[in-house]
Amino acid sequence: MSVLVFVENIEGKFKKSAFEVVSYAKTIANTLNQKLTAISIGDVSDTALESLGKYGANKILNVNSEKLKSFINQAYASIITQAAKQEEATIIVLSNSFSGKGLAPRIAAKMEAGLADGAVGLPEINENNFRIKKTAFSGKAFALTELTSVIKVIALNPNSFELRDEITTPEITTFEADLHSQDFNTIVKEIVRTTDKISLPDAEIVVSGGRGLKGPENWGIIEDLANALGAATACSKPVSDAGWRPHEEHVGQTGIAVSPNLYIAIGISGAIQHLAGVSSSKTIVVINKDPEAPFFKVADYGIVGDAFEIVPKITSAIKAL
Ligand code: FAD
Repeated sequence: MSVLVFVENIEGKFKKSAFEVVSYAKTIANTLNQKLTAISIGDVSDTALESLGKYGANKILNVNSEKLKSFINQAYASIITQAAKQEEATIIVLSNSFSGKGLAPRIAAKMEAGLADGAVGLPEINENNFRIKKTAFSGKAFALTELTSVIKVIALNPNSFELRDEITTPEITTFEADLHSQDFNTIVKEIVRTTDKISLPDAEIVVSGGRGLKGPENWGIIEDLANALGAATACSKPVSDAGWRPHEEHVGQTGIAVSPNLYIAIGISGAIQHLAGVSSSKTIVVINKDPEAPFFKVADYGIVGDAFEIVPKITSAIKAL
């Protein structure tokens, strides 16, 4: 038996969340005294694959084919399932990323496995129980879920597990998966990047603006602060609805859920639908001129005042460091 972890790459490079799931899965494998196998799909160099050994991968299955250049949900789920069966994996771990959200339920259905998606901590494992903390109700609450099935699938929220070094020299092998034509009903022909900015779901720091910014012409103060911090930018729903910012920056119940180490909310009231997407952030800083703004109730640090005065001062202070 083993633990299997799926490691996602973008254009041959592993995302930070890939190392997080390896480190997380290794901790579970150690608890169960099992080996950790990682599966990578797509064109990834041996050097990149070997880097998974920093976090404890014992074996790496590498799957590469011209047909797998782009992410295709059904095909990837089928390959991971085939690998899980070969490795007799009882626990399958992947990131609760955009791709992971599509893959995890498919794999769970194929493997007749219990699924914990949006996991935020290590499972409590003993003879009778396998309990895991996960987000629930679009991030408005946490749930302690018990997985009772023999095979378990865990989709870990990005940025919710700290990397733990555990050096191994992984055995890298090519995995010859069966590629079924019915899994290729949709094929991505071309991907056009709209931005080179830091990817919002993976960002460790997010600077987010709301309607308090008054208009798109004022977004310079958000971008300056984000640049100074190496952060991604985000916004509330009305801001993207009004076309001030692109829709892919919209955070919340109907947008992207983020879990950065630091979320800075500027001129955002903190409506429940917005909080749904940010509640698993480690530290929340709120800047709002209204001391009664609901966001302050969930803030770790709050500044009451005018964003147009405060934000440029913070940016200058950070640049001066
Ligand atoms: P406002 O509520 O207008 O708040 C602006 C804030 O800026 C105020 O608190 C004000 O005090 C402050 N402010 C004003 N001027 C300044 C200044 N100079 N300096 C500092 N602060 C200032 N919203 C989301 O964000 N994400 C979602 O996914 C989402 N999904 C929704 C789904 C449904 C079904 C519904 C009904 C609503 C949803 N909403 C969502 C909308 C949500 O209810 C709120 O309306 C929205 O989040 C408010 O956006 P805001 O905070 O930017 O604007």
